[in-house]
Amino acid sequence: MALLKSIKSKLVVFATVASLIPSLGLGLKSIKSKLVVFATLATLIPSLGLGLLTFRQSEAQTNANVTRELRALTDYAGREMEFWLDRRAHEAHVTAASGAVIEALSASYQRRADMLAKYPGALARYLQSVQGKLDAIRELTVMNASGKIIASSAEKPAGATLPDEWPQNSVTEGLVITPPHWNEQYNTATLSVAVPVLSYDNVLMGALVAVLDLRNLQPHLKSSSTSPPGEVFLLDPDGRVLIGTLAEGETMAQLDGPSLRELLARPGESMFFKGLTRREVIGLADVFHEFPLTILAERDRAAVYGDWIELRNMLLILVGMLVLIVAAAAFQMGRSIVVPLQRLMRAADRIADGDLEVRLSATRNDEIGHLTKVFDQMADRLRRNHAEIMAAHEAMQQQNRMLEKLSITDSLTGLYNRNKLDAILADQLARFRRTQRPFALLMLDIDHFKTLNDTYGHITGDKILAKVAQILLQSIRSIDYAARYGGDEFIIILVETYIDQAVKTAERIRTHVEKLTYPAGKSTISITVSIGAVECRSDDSTTTAVFSRADNALYEAKRAGRNQAYFSR
Ligand code: GH3
Ligand code: MG
Repeated sequence: MALLKSIKSKLVVFATVASLIPSLGLGLKSIKSKLVVFATLATLIPSLGLGLLTFRQSEAQTNANVTRELRALTDYAGREMEFWLDRRAHEAHVTAASGAVIEALSASYQRRADMLAKYPGALARYLQSVQGKLDAIRELTVMNASGKIIASSAEKPAGATLPDEWPQNSVTEGLVITPPHWNEQYNTATLSVAVPVLSYDNVLMGALVAVLDLRNLQPHLKSSSTSPPGEVFLLDPDGRVLIGTLAEGETMAQLDGPSLRELLARPGESMFFKGLTRREVIGLADVFHEFPLTILAERDRAAVYGDWIELRNMLLILVGMLVLIVAAAAFQMGRSIVVPLQRLMRAADRIADGDLEVRLSATRNDEIGHLTKVFDQMADRLRRNHAEIMAAHEAMQQQNRMLEKLSITDSLTGLYNRNKLDAILADQLARFRRTQRPFALLMLDIDHFKTLNDTYGHITGDKILAKVAQILLQSIRSIDYAARYGGDEFIIILVETYIDQAVKTAERIRTHVEKLTYPAGKSTISITVSIGAVECRSDDSTTTAVFSRADNALYEAKRAGRNQAYFSR
């Protein structure tokens, strides 16, 4: 029982643990573990519940059947005992009614001395002869009415004390005067029966006591053809086995006290105990109603419940395997949902982080496959939108750059315009104040440009303005600035330059312009420029002050005859 219990509990624990392992590993938060736990419980509860219910019922049914069979065994044994006793009593009666017994007792009764001397020996021989013929009888003893032994088949007769009421209620019936017990003298279980000995004219003269060997009853305890399986034992009040259907070697000498008490407390009801075969048995006891004798029937528990237990264990193993399979299937199902979901989640995270180059490519046709496809479409659309936005952004930036350039450029010459010039000059002035690093400013004006315009036309004038601008750009460093101040006037800012260097640059420009000729129809045009050069000064509080000084210098250059550079310190 302990072993079976442990197998059962092991299986239950195994099934439970098997179902919990994935949940413990993942925590119940995940869909996967929820599915596993649900599937396991959904399998375990009905299958185990139904199975155990069925087995509980079949156990009860088996119990009832075995109890019925055991009762049949004890009933049969009880009846056999009664028949057997009846037959033995009859044998005793017949013996008691024999002439040898009656005559011997008559002599004793009539106190006939001649007869008394002759009969005991003859009677004893007669009794021995009868006892020899009757298997069930171990001893025959004749007693007179006062209980004195007259003769016996045994050398040392056990004798018996006749009860006080003898023979009033036992004139014709035999009476068990010694209940079944273990007889040390004959080394077997015996019981003694007394029958009255009556004279020919029905006067009670004494009793014939027969000691019956219960071993003679043994083959009759159970019918080999009709009795259900199981063993029957007759026990004395101390639980000692008197006889049983098992061979003697197979039985224990005694049933343990607590089991016996419990059995006797509930006669006819089956219970489990350690049986006389030293094995676990199911058995029940019945008390013989005529004298203290217990009839015990028992059956090996393993034989009764073997198939049932095997079936139950099979069911538990089956349920355990079912749970494992279902848990594994649920785990796999969970995985098939969770893994693509996790893939989707990771992809969504990447998109959230700004990485739009995510492609999942759906491989399934179910809902998850659809979701993956839609996700890819969304990501595609996002990519396209993003590309369009980026292109628009780039175009806008380009336009902004162009606008910015236009806003600071003179369209005719490509030089900085006046606005930008103002800003550059303000910057340089501020820088000079901060660092004392000097800069110089050249103001240039084309000589007699008005006349040129009038002579060759405005378009030619424009071309000449552009050409002069080109010369200016070629004549300065990359760190310097050239701007169109307005009309035919240009400004050059020479960074980190003192007036001497500025005058040199002015002279170089002037010469360059002077040397150039511009084709105009059949003739060529030559132009000159006048240049006013100034260096910044610490008292230049505004840009206007610098411009003003440069303008003055230019004026001086014009006044001095044009085509020259004039500088003021
Ligand atoms: P001066 O030697 O004293 O400078 O004589 P000038 O004729 O050059 O006189 P001024 O500088 O005052 O005249 C500038 C002329 O430049 C006036 C105008 O017709 C002409 N002009 C102004 N802006 C443009 C322009 O964008 N294109 C052309 N072709 N001519 C212009
Ligand atoms: Mg001019």
